[in-house]
Amino acid sequence: MKPTAEELFGPPGTPRVAVVGAGFGGIATGVKLKQAGIDTFTIFESSPGVGGTWWDNTYPGAEVDVGSHLYCFSFKPYDWTRTHARQAELQRYLDETVDEFGLRAHLELGVRVESATWDDDRHVWSLRLEGGRTEEFHALVSAVGFLNVPVYPTWPGLGDFRGPAFHTARWEHEHDLAGKVVAVVGTGSSGTQVVPALQPTVKRLYVFQREPGWILPKGERDLTDGERAALASPWRRRRERWRLRYTVEKNLRGGKLFRPGTRANETRKQLCLRYIERQFADRPDLRDAVTPHYPYPGKRPVFASTFYRALKQENVELVPRAVAAVTPTGIVDADGVTREVDAIVMATGFRTTEYLARLRVVGRDGRTLQEHWAGEPRAFLGITVPGFPNLFILYGPGTNGGEIVTMLEAQAAYAVRSLQRMRRRSVTAVEVRPAAEARWDDWLQTRLRGTSWTMSKNYFRAPSGKVVTQWPYGNARYRVLTRLLGPVSETTRRRQPQSGTGRGRLINSEEALRGD
Ligand code: NAP
Repeated sequence: MKPTAEELFGPPGTPRVAVVGAGFGGIATGVKLKQAGIDTFTIFESSPGVGGTWWDNTYPGAEVDVGSHLYCFSFKPYDWTRTHARQAELQRYLDETVDEFGLRAHLELGVRVESATWDDDRHVWSLRLEGGRTEEFHALVSAVGFLNVPVYPTWPGLGDFRGPAFHTARWEHEHDLAGKVVAVVGTGSSGTQVVPALQPTVKRLYVFQREPGWILPKGERDLTDGERAALASPWRRRRERWRLRYTVEKNLRGGKLFRPGTRANETRKQLCLRYIERQFADRPDLRDAVTPHYPYPGKRPVFASTFYRALKQENVELVPRAVAAVTPTGIVDADGVTREVDAIVMATGFRTTEYLARLRVVGRDGRTLQEHWAGEPRAFLGITVPGFPNLFILYGPGTNGGEIVTMLEAQAAYAVRSLQRMRRRSVTAVEVRPAAEARWDDWLQTRLRGTSWTMSKNYFRAPSGKVVTQWPYGNARYRVLTRLLGPVSETTRRRQPQSGTGRGRLINSEEALRGD
């Protein structure tokens, strides 16, 4: 006779789940676990508050570039004040979601998970937490995000710079930059938001651009009272969400937008070029400097309505060169020219291709995820990895591209469905078959061939050159695949009766210390 869920997982009869990260992904997972009747979970978050990327990125001008009514959970509509919400409003939204769905009691804030090790005898993940505590769980959901570990440049002399020098994702609010000479390095989505926000208050702003991005205006504005009143109707709100979704999906359909030579790609490229023409008709020097010379989109496209205008202001100088070095009081460009500055803002991006860079995950055969990947991360649907049972990665390899909150919800739902199958089938380990994962990666790589991502410098490529981060289609296709492919891709096992610590019981370090 099959053991009961209580015998396998302990008295509540539900697996104990560790969720690492309390941003959009971790919160979606918590809500979906609760909706599935699984209350035996803990969300660990190394920051003192929830929010993930919106907790980290408090730089002036931080704002989402997807329509607010789409960039939110399907289960939590909101009275957004802007077409594109700012950081503070997103932070409020996420805090409110945590309270409304009863997640607060499941949170361990300010606790970093250092490592997770799979015990293949007992079918549990043993988590080592900062400070030495250990806890055991039946399943592990990584919701640590994709754009979470900042890239700090290794410019010679940076350590000796006398003024403040900080990353956009670690903004040091104690420094008043008003009236100062400031260098912003990097012109991606963060840099292009920081520059217009700083420009009106600083004395002088140097913007260091290594390679320009393809930019389109975003059309952000406050919603009028009338619009907000209309959107209070659930039906109107749903319609607005579908309208935004349709716009995104239409653009991403068939992945043509990413393929040079297609009409969709050429049309978008021309839109960007015309935007440059219009903005810089009076400044041909800047027009040439901001025009990309690589296939569209090549990098993550930037949506920014105020960046080009800011570059034309008298107190701003665009330096279309990389940074070569830093002196105690200035910054040296690749041509050897030094500019004296009071502060340096590094809008230099994130360590994207080192998934789970700060979480050491040791799988069934004793190897870490990083060793298993050997520099080229990959996962079935971006979620599961052979040799790492009961591990679910949110925003994993090959899933960057579509609207992210929808992707995260699909991934959280996938993990929860897997856990429910474990209960139904009375199994204690679920693992993707290596052949299924290999076929997935082969398929994805064939779909990435011919995209501009493979032809440009960007943060999507591993050091080997392989594009490891991208999903080349819209959300609809991905969601369907996550719904269909779980059961057919996995193998399951049941823990041997003698190898458990009895009736699904897990131990933690406090019990071990007490000698229970
Ligand atoms: P990013 O897109 O990686 O941009 C980093 C910038 O820094 C690039 O311009 C890069 O130049 C430059 N850079 C990096 N290292 C440098 C060095 N050593 N010297 C000189 N320049 C250097 O990072 P991000 O702007 O923080 O954006 C990351 C992602 O976060 C975005 O793509 C987006 O997905 C997300 N994001 C979204 C929003 C939003 O509105 N929703 C806002 C911010 C960020 P190269 O291009 O030459 O490499």
